[in-house]
Amino acid sequence: MKTRVRFAPSPTGHLHVGGARTALFNYLFAKKTGGTFVLRIEDTDELRSTDESTKSIFQSMKWLDLKWDEGAMPDLSEKGDFGPYIQSKRESDGIYKKYAEQLLEEKKAYYCYCSSEELDEMRKKALSEKRDPKYDGRCRHLSAEEIEEFKKQGRKPVIRFRMPDDGQTVFEDLVHKHLKFENKLLYDFIMIKASGYPTYNFACVIDDHLMEMTHIIRGDDHISNTPLQLNVYKAFGWEPPQHAHLSMILGQDGTRLSKRHGATSITEYEKQGFLPETMKNYLALLGWGTTDSQDIFKKGELEEKFDLKGCQKSAAAFDPVKLEWMNGEYIRQLSKDELFDAAQPYLKDFGLNLDKANPLHFNVVALEQEKYKLLSDVGGMVYFFFQDVKYDEAAIDKILKAPDIETILNGIKKTYSEISEFNDIVLESKTREFAKSNGFKNGQVFHPVRVSVSGSTKGPTLFKMIEYLGKEEVIKRIDKTLSLIEI
Ligand code: GLU
Repeated sequence: MKTRVRFAPSPTGHLHVGGARTALFNYLFAKKTGGTFVLRIEDTDELRSTDESTKSIFQSMKWLDLKWDEGAMPDLSEKGDFGPYIQSKRESDGIYKKYAEQLLEEKKAYYCYCSSEELDEMRKKALSEKRDPKYDGRCRHLSAEEIEEFKKQGRKPVIRFRMPDDGQTVFEDLVHKHLKFENKLLYDFIMIKASGYPTYNFACVIDDHLMEMTHIIRGDDHISNTPLQLNVYKAFGWEPPQHAHLSMILGQDGTRLSKRHGATSITEYEKQGFLPETMKNYLALLGWGTTDSQDIFKKGELEEKFDLKGCQKSAAAFDPVKLEWMNGEYIRQLSKDELFDAAQPYLKDFGLNLDKANPLHFNVVALEQEKYKLLSDVGGMVYFFFQDVKYDEAAIDKILKAPDIETILNGIKKTYSEISEFNDIVLESKTREFAKSNGFKNGQVFHPVRVSVSGSTKGPTLFKMIEYLGKEEVIKRIDKTLSLIEI
């Protein structure tokens, strides 16, 4: 049987780490098993769903290169034979209503006229009596007269699922193994809201069934929904798909990953300068691993190696330090050309408009490829090549106020102006020669030269940096430094 899986985001915000991990695991599972990856938009929360969120989710999926085979498409078209793939459209087509009516007819669902005040009251009373604050089923057996009376009062009913009172709901989760729920602890959940819109738990079952899903791969925050949903499958006499609930993702303090821990949306990671390949690789390791705990995966390797058997049920810790380390690894793997393209949008934030065809621009960006952890590091490291030097105070105090500074800088200026082959090798040997013959330690010379030309005590490798700046510019900058010292 061909596998069919789906990612079913609710468009109530950007795609966050947990959602992206779910999308990725579904995608990888489909790739690995030669199945179909479907994207369905679950916008039944009329108040919180927005088109911007849908667009943003599409954009992040594209950035992560998670292509889906079927479903709602970014241009709002639909691809596949099981559409519509947006739940609000399915609602207007009457799909959920039809199935709700079937359950009403079969007495497996019922109208509930309770007002929100009554429900609140019920909850409070249950809590004060130390009972489970679930719906007490008071509308399960309304008489025709009572219904008439509620209607007269203008009450708008919801439709509730009639949960079995006894027995158990049991399933074999592909990650969590054997899971068992007492039905009496479940509740008559709302299938259709007073607005006519379906709830998640109902719409999800109808769609997963009609769209012929074979596996449901989602976060384990949905485990408690699964027995409710399995009872709906049972009520219809449908074969449920297999479930795999992915482990929770924790922040560094051991609580569920949330905004408190910093960036959680994929767009934020993109803005910060992470490569999509890094994110994809890192997300794959949140709750999954190979038997030999492989860290870095080559292109296409995850698609080959992913296996639900490698998913663990214990929570995964999100480690920002490891993520940055991994990004550094991925940045080092880029060709100079790829690095330039990837860094380009971030350079603009530093006011740099660099041209790949210009060898200086091209080389400067690649100069410190080994050191970058984020694409946004590039601008800070190289901006001074293209802009006036901004001396940082600490550098001036520490370096430019050292004894003999004028002698050193004047000497270096003379030395450099006499070099005809202005490359890093010649520069290094001439600088060392100057230090030695004038009785200075290398550091006494190297540091002020670095600060003179870049404004900072830290930066790219010194002699390559001087070579790229070029003789004329270097001398101009040393002159400027000298004039600052004289003041
Ligand atoms: N719309 C649900 C969510 O975003 C989907 C859950 C599921 O995969 O069933 O959490």
